[in-house]
Amino acid sequence: MPDVAVVGSGPNGLAAAVTLARAGLKVHVYEAAPTPGGGLRTAELMEPGHFHDVCSAVHPMALASPFFRQFELSRRIRLEVPEVSYGTPLDGGRAALAYRSLERTAAGLGRDGAAFTRLMGPLVHRADGITDLTLNQLLRLPRDP
Ligand SMILES: Cc1cc2nc3c(=O)[nH]c(=O)nc-3n(C[C@H](O)[C@H](O)[C@H](O)COP(=O)(O)OP(=O)(O)OC[C@H]3O[C@@H](n4cnc5c(N)ncnc54)[C@H](O)[C@@H]3O)c2cc1C
Repeated sequence: MPDVAVVGSGPNGLAAAVTLARAGLKVHVYEAAPTPGGGLRTAELMEPGHFHDVCSAVHPMALASPFFRQFELSRRIRLEVPEVSYGTPLDGGRAALAYRSLERTAAGLGRDGAAFTRLMGPLVHRADGITDLTLNQLLRLPRDP
């Protein structure tokens, strides 16, 4: 008999299972779907060798989350980082493209680049404080409010 039954093998179920197993408990993970992974599954939907993210596709928290950092996720799996993080179509056949670089993104936004930098700059420069605030479940004063 397991000590703990975890229902669902999405990222939260697996994180809980790993944490409990590392604490020395015998854990069983139950999954109703044919493959594990929940919303983070990848499958060959259209043709062999062509992989699709079935649900979620963009995973900055895979690098930022304290749990995944401790778990050394980026050492265990290969995370693909595209040159363009995402794009948004605009009127007139144009598009706004977001890169990992704030400066490069702003440079592509024309006259809106300065406003984008004003909005996003403080968030980018204080990314660690934001991660600490949003991914910490302990009720306490944030280190960087
Ligand atoms: C369309 C869409 C796009 C998204 N895009 C992103 C994104 O780009 N980036 C991002 O970070 N997040 C994204 N998300 C959110 C992300 O997918 C979820 O936050 C994450 O999957 C939640 O993980 P979870 O483990 O809580 O649940 P899930 O991933 O939903 O896993 C739950 C698992 O439990 C199983 N299950 C449920 N009931 C039972 C049962 N009774 N018995 C056995 N098994 C059961 C399910 O089959 C499933 O495998 C997106 C979500 C959606 C819907």
